[in-house]
Amino acid sequence: MPPLPKKEAENREYDYFVIGGGSGGFGTARRAASYGAKVGLAEQSPHLGGTCVNVGCVPKKIMWQAAEHATGIHKAVRFGLGNAKLADEFTKDIDWNTMVQRREAFIRNLNKIYEKNLANEHVDEHSGHAKILDKHTIEITQRDGEKYTIKTKKICIATGGYPTVPGEDKIPGAKYGIDSDGFFALEQRPKRVVVVGAGYIAVELTGIFNALGSEAHLVIRHDQFLRTFDPMCSEVLMPHMEHEGVHIHKSSNVTKVEKTSSGALSIHIDSLSEPVEADCLLWCIGRHGNTDNLGLENVGVKTNEKGDIVVDEYQNTNVDGIYAVGDIGGKALLTPVAIAAGRRLSNRLFGGDKYKDDKLSYENIPSVVFSHPPIGAIGLTEPEAKEKYGDKLKIYKSTFRGLSQSLLEQDQKVSSTYKLICAGEDEKVVGLHIIGDGSDEVLQGFGVAIKMGATKEDFDSCVAIHPTSAEELVTLR
Ligand code: FAD
Ligand code: NDP
Repeated sequence: MPPLPKKEAENREYDYFVIGGGSGGFGTARRAASYGAKVGLAEQSPHLGGTCVNVGCVPKKIMWQAAEHATGIHKAVRFGLGNAKLADEFTKDIDWNTMVQRREAFIRNLNKIYEKNLANEHVDEHSGHAKILDKHTIEITQRDGEKYTIKTKKICIATGGYPTVPGEDKIPGAKYGIDSDGFFALEQRPKRVVVVGAGYIAVELTGIFNALGSEAHLVIRHDQFLRTFDPMCSEVLMPHMEHEGVHIHKSSNVTKVEKTSSGALSIHIDSLSEPVEADCLLWCIGRHGNTDNLGLENVGVKTNEKGDIVVDEYQNTNVDGIYAVGDIGGKALLTPVAIAAGRRLSNRLFGGDKYKDDKLSYENIPSVVFSHPPIGAIGLTEPEAKEKYGDKLKIYKSTFRGLSQSLLEQDQKVSSTYKLICAGEDEKVVGLHIIGDGSDEVLQGFGVAIKMGATKEDFDSCVAIHPTSAEELVTLR
């Protein structure tokens, strides 16, 4: 069902009104409606699904998969299956534009499924920007500028966030760069790219560019990237990326960006004597909460110094009857976290006694970096575990060549590395960090085991599946 027209939408009254039609908003709205609550949801973008569906996880994973397919052609050559020259020609001629068109068609279809799902749950869709006027009144401004108000008993803010970019005062010419939303808008492959940042997005998008044939530079402020992960991740991935051709500029900062007469960008980096010339500059230096014109001041909802909404462990803001879920809370910015927090909040608010204390545990959240090869991580990093458990720790580590790499003799640097961090007498597994082909898929099942409190002995008691990479985790010595 399409969004409600103004005539039907105005003056409606709800038990629960959700602002934002992304992962968290959908999770909480649909779950509340499943308990019989009267629910409305506002989305300002013409496309439902939020960041994840439109400019995040889904299009990123499609690009990552495209990059895996493209590098697969080169790997097939090294397995002896074909002609290196043809593989090189293939990379040179990659049809980025057709791939992007197919990706977007796939996503437009997902948007329709999202619309249908709201209708199936009887959640009213309001298309436009929502602003809180008071604790029970929300003003919707449609894209044509028409305004109306609705009434609600409770409000959930699930407005997500957007990319941070440096100001012109900090880096002159920063405005010539794009952010991750701009990455998904690229219709052609840039020949030369400079990516700035050291988190998930910088590492993932640099890998995609490189695998799809752009000359890729990555500028990081320190000598490692992914610094919130176990140090092993950066130690293994960085030389691999360099071996694959990425130019990593460590302990470096962009100081100035200029446009040349040919339209290219001249990017000044403090560690280099000459600027790097590129066709695309991509800022991936973090994200911050979206509270633009949300009316928080009308009700006194508190934000922190980063601009994210402050919530307690139950997703309550400081104002009774107003809640927040997902990226806007600034904690574990991941789609499944936003969905799970949203659903549990609705369980608690509308699910009756059984769920009166329901909340999401933010401990042991598994997460994957879609690098090449991917990284999987859950639990404590080694430095965190040392801080918590001191010397009552046992670390198991294995570095090996999976059979997917077996005939890639030119890639001696490509190895998988798995690390298990165990604590106490019973060697409870408190951290698991893996890098290597398939790590994205391997992690989920081990995540369940760790959530259940598995020990090293439990891991060892499971018979290995041979020959796989995952079997290393149940045979560590
Ligand atoms: P969002 O999905 O951002 O949804 C918020 C919605 O609210 C938006 O649609 C916005 O238009 C709308 N909105 C905002 N203000 C208003 C208003 N006032 N009125 C009406 N509507 C409003 N996570 C993973 O788990 N795995 C991944 O692989 C992954 N990859 C990512 C790749 C990239 C490039 C990015 C940027 C993010 C990625 N993420 C990934 C993170 C994930 O996308 C977010 O954690 C998730 O989308 C957060 O959901 P949310 O509901 O909090 O916010
Ligand atoms: P992150 O917060 O993960 O990383 C940004 C990093 O950039 C910082 O950690 C910092 O690293 C570096 N940085 C910060 N400011 C500057 C600066 N001024 N100049 C240079 N570098 C800077 O943000 P992302 O934008 O990568 O991603 C946002 C979130 O989206 C992630 O945290 C993640 O939760 C989610 N996401 C999840 C994905 C997944 O699940 N696969 C994929 C993509 C995003 P340092 O201090 O080392 O310099």
